[in-house]
Amino acid sequence: MKFSRIVWAFVLSISLNGVTNACQRHYTLDDFIPYLTASYLQQRVQEVAHRIDTDYAGKEITIVSVLEGARPFTRDLKNALKSKTQVVEVTAKSYEGTESKDLTISGLDSIYLKDKDVLIVDDICDTAKTLKKLVEKVQEKQPTSVKTCVLLMKNTSKNSTKYQPDYQAVEIEDRFVIGYGLDYDGAYRDLNCVMALKSSAA
Ligand code: 5GP
Ligand code: MG
Repeated sequence: MKFSRIVWAFVLSISLNGVTNACQRHYTLDDFIPYLTASYLQQRVQEVAHRIDTDYAGKEITIVSVLEGARPFTRDLKNALKSKTQVVEVTAKSYEGTESKDLTISGLDSIYLKDKDVLIVDDICDTAKTLKKLVEKVQEKQPTSVKTCVLLMKNTSKNSTKYQPDYQAVEIEDRFVIGYGLDYDGAYRDLNCVMALKSSAA
């Protein structure tokens, strides 16, 4: 009796594993469609830079850029800003494939932010866990002010506290996107446009 239960548990675990593996698809660029053009993105970067310049008038902004994803956005935002800026970089990782997993932040411990006007810049706000955690950690360093800025704001129920960054360049639907810094398992970050996973592939 006991032995047959063990056999059944074994058979069940093998079949469930098979189902899970079948569900984990690997996507190629053919599974994505053009979503935001390079010129549209650049236009929105200019607009958000103008708003930031107006709000920070005369102040030096310390940009905390969240790598890897925010690299192109930070570069173009910095170029578009008239305000004096200093860029420091931290690393955050939470995505595996197209799934949001546990968050790890590194590189912030050695950064001095006391009495600075800090603007945290990220590629996208999804669950908002990254921005909320970073704001909390930056606050501990006694800056004069902390604000957040993202290229893309995802309209998703996963953002359970309805956190809104102070600045957002473009609001998007709840879709997995790549390009302009955003990756799929390390690839496609260097596209100058943003592409979205086809609904039929998701
Ligand atoms: P959050 O903490 O807001 O859930 O997500 C933050 C990070 O998850 C982003 O900085 C980004 O790196 C990653 N992420 C969220 N949504 C997407 C997406 O649609 N595509 C890609 N490539 N990364 C995403
Ligand atoms: Mg990121």
